[in-house]
Parts: sequence; structure tokens; C-alpha cells
Amino acid sequence: MEQVVIIGTGCAGLAAAIYTARANLSPLVLTGVTPGGLLTTTSIVENYPGFPDGVDGFELMNRMQKQAEKFGAKVKFATVDSVDFTKSPFWITVDGELVVSKTVIIATGAGHRHLGLASEAKLDKKGITYCATCDGALPVFRNKPLVVVGGGDSACEEALYLTRFGSVVYLVHRRDVLRASRIMAERVLSNPKIKPIWDSVVTDVLDVQQDKVTAVRLKNLKTSQEQVVDCAGVFVAIGHQPNTTLFKGQVEMDDNGYIVRRNGAATSVAGVFVAGDCSDHVYRQAITAAGMGCAAAIEVERHLAAIS
Ligand code: NAP
Repeated sequence: MEQVVIIGTGCAGLAAAIYTARANLSPLVLTGVTPGGLLTTTSIVENYPGFPDGVDGFELMNRMQKQAEKFGAKVKFATVDSVDFTKSPFWITVDGELVVSKTVIIATGAGHRHLGLASEAKLDKKGITYCATCDGALPVFRNKPLVVVGGGDSACEEALYLTRFGSVVYLVHRRDVLRASRIMAERVLSNPKIKPIWDSVVTDVLDVQQDKVTAVRLKNLKTSQEQVVDCAGVFVAIGHQPNTTLFKGQVEMDDNGYIVRRNGAATSVAGVFVAGDCSDHVYRQAITAAGMGCAAAIEVERHLAAIS
């Protein structure tokens, strides 16, 4: 039987892994389909303390994993099929095999929010993507007009990154003020290759018939005017939704699917703890996720001491 199983290997999961490993609990750490979490799809992380010149997101996560493994964490590339938290110890089915654990830390993070258009689903990976760092350098996007959707830090980061490849980058935002931090907004608005298109939403991505992205149809929300903007790629960066479907009916969640966190890192089930973006729609930073991972690990230690 495991002392602790950590589900997820983003900042929250790996910070929890470092702390529980250093507490000699030999955590079993399950990566899920995105080892390292969403930060691995970011380019330079400039706001993680300790890196005055920034750090590559993938590199940061790689280092965290190594640090956890150095102290005895068992990191396994595996996906959780289902969980049963109705009795303790807890049952977790991992790639068809049963794992039993005294405690669990849920750190499954969040995934990309989609526009919800039929054409978006049909053209996914055929010119529509959710990660400029992953796909921006593809030949299909080189020296072509590109569209980024969103007005937050992610959209700004994507737009700036894509200026290396596209002939022009249109930033389509549903309002006329960016949500992004001031420093990112200033960088975007002063970049001559980025053309903001304000107060507008994407109503369709063309061209499903050709099985590739050729343009977007936009609607101005103030004037209701429509326009078609030619482009070779659409980079959707409109936020995230929590990866918590697995835990429906097992732990308490809010209306948006975020796991309700109480007293630091506890959930509605004693012995099941939570950390990071799957329970946080407010801060959503690497450093806050890591902090929550630390808190969850400390709570696991206390819980194990209390039940032993
Ligand atoms: P976000 O801050 O939630 O921004 C999402 C953006 O998408 C908003 O501008 C929002 O518009 C727009 N949006 C949402 N739903 C939409 C829809 N259905 N159609 C069109 N537009 C839609 O998400 P994020 O940019 O991914 O950032 C998440 C967190 O990570 C933030 O705390 C951010 O600061 C942080 N982050 C930091 C960095 C960095 O520091 N390097 C990089 C990336 C992310 P409204 O503004 O109108 O709501």
C-alpha cells in the first residue's frame, strides 16, 4: 500500500512530490497525459522566483521532477482511469491496475478552454492550436498571417512569440482593453507586427471544406459588423478549465468544476488533499501552485501521523 499518491506533475504535484519524498513517504507520482503540466507548453517563465533571466517552462518542470526523484519520489508515466474515495484506504485505478493508498493529493491542473465552434473541433491540429510554443514554428505558419484569440497574459505571450514566424499577428479580443498584466500589454501594443482587433469574437474558422485553416470570420460585438480575416493559423488562448472530471461525485466541487479547498489543502474527504489550478481559479500562477503543493504535502504528513 502507498503512503501517498500524487495525481499530476505540474508545479503543484511536483512540489508536493519534493516535500513528501523528503519526508520519506516515497510518493507515487502519476504524470497523466501532460507530464510537467501546462508550464511545459510555455516558453520563458519570467516570474518564478530565483530566475532573474527567466527559465524555460519545460526546463523548470524537468528540474522539479529530478529534485523529487533525488529524494525518492516514484514518478510514473501513467493515467488514472478512476478513483474510489468512498472508503479508506483509497482505490485508484491506474492504466487498468489497482493502486491502494492511505492518502491522495489531487494536482491535475487545468486544460485549455475552447471556443466551442463546430469548425474549431474539425480543424483542430489542422491550423488551430492551443500552444504557440509547441506549434508556432511549423512550416505551415511561416511568413503567413496568424490569429491569436484572447486578451490575457497567455494570448499576449503567444502573440509575441508568433511574431518570430508569422508575417503579421492579429490579436482578436472581445473587449477593447487587455486583461494581461501591464508589462505584457505594453510589449504587445508596441510591437509593430501585432495588430489588435478589438471588441471582436471568432464566429467561424474557415475552411472546413479544404481541411485547413484559411481565415476566421469575426463579429464586432459593438457594431455587429462581420469581417473575414485571412490567416494560416488560429492560436486560441482564452483561459483554462480544471481537469477534474475524474473526481466528480468523489470530492466537493464548485459550479465550474474547481475542487473546493478548505483549511489550506483539505477536500471534502479526509485524507484526500488538493493543490494547484484544479482548485484555484484566482491566482493560477506557477509559484502559487507550488506553494499549494507544499501545503498539501505537509497536510499529508500530519494526516498520516494522526491515523497511525
Ligand atoms: P485569463 O487571464 O483568464 O484570460 C483569458 C482571456 O480570454 C481574457 O482576455 C478573456 O476575455 C478571454 N476569453 C475568455 N473566454 C473567452 C471566449 N469564450 N471567447 C473569447 N475570449 C474569451 O487566462 P490566461 O491568459 O490563460 O492566464 C491565466 C493565468 O496565468 C493568469 O493569472 C495569467 O496572469 C497567468 N499567466 C502568466 C504568464 C506570465 O506571467 N508569463 C503567462 C501566461 C499566463 P476577458 O478579458 O474579456 O475576460
